[in-house]
Amino acid sequence: MFGGVECVLAAALAFLPSDARNAHSLVSDFARKCPVRDAGSRGAHSAAGYIASHLKTLGVAPELDKFAAPTPNGVRTFINVGAEWRFETSGDAPWIVLTSHYDTKCGCPGANDGASTSALLLAFASALNRSESPGFNIQLLWLDGEECMKAYLPGDGFWGSKRAAEKLKASGRRVKAVICLDMLGDADLNISIPRNVTPSLSRVALAAAAQLEKRGFKNKVSTIRELVKDDHQAFLEQGFPAIDLIDFDYGGKKGENRYWHTTEDTPDKVSAESILYSARLVVEMIEQLAVSSES
Ligand SMILES: [Zn+2]
Repeated sequence: MFGGVECVLAAALAFLPSDARNAHSLVSDFARKCPVRDAGSRGAHSAAGYIASHLKTLGVAPELDKFAAPTPNGVRTFINVGAEWRFETSGDAPWIVLTSHYDTKCGCPGANDGASTSALLLAFASALNRSESPGFNIQLLWLDGEECMKAYLPGDGFWGSKRAAEKLKASGRRVKAVICLDMLGDADLNISIPRNVTPSLSRVALAAAAQLEKRGFKNKVSTIRELVKDDHQAFLEQGFPAIDLIDFDYGGKKGENRYWHTTEDTPDKVSAESILYSARLVVEMIEQLAVSSES
């Protein structure tokens, strides 16, 4: 489903095949230049710099939020990177927040788990730059410290999302949706919506996938019964509507997740087609949320 009538949609928010190809090359570049990105490492800080400087090349002013937090390995410094598009001028205009974590588990290149959705959001920044208002202000967040150091227990992992959710709460902004993207570059894409999300957003994601199917994209989205610990939880805890879109079936046989958190999570496992599908799912969700806000 590449090519065709894309130019007709130039004024509206549209994620093009060229955006997906750019994101795909960024995955390799990012994973090569910032191979070690675990929290507090020099690599993680240079990864934040990579994202910020890429945004600057797009003419977007990045906001770096550097903060310290206790971890099982002592106090560490984290950096969240953000960027905003204020399409709507009214002070009470609703926001949509898209997130990806960019850090990795120590020793894992994180091409899919971290780099793929971070690159997707960088390409999304280009799409937003040429877009007219999709009916919302949009904030993109590249979050640090999603991965735990020892185990996903209280006090370990999700430092970046906790910080960002607290700041969002303090801002008093009206937030229509927080959409967390994780591991969505997997060439063998199967997007799951876990049980612990805002139900109305789960319905919007399924309706968006159905809409894409009508346009010829095989449906790759399903709900699962399991709870998934991911960055969306911090936003739910602060009272925001939030959803996690995650492909938690990465390599090997069904359920094996063979490449996850291993040295095998490399750029060759990521495809432009999967990035395109995932980004278009998000665009379609934003369109559906805009329609439901009008009615
Ligand atoms: Zn991970």
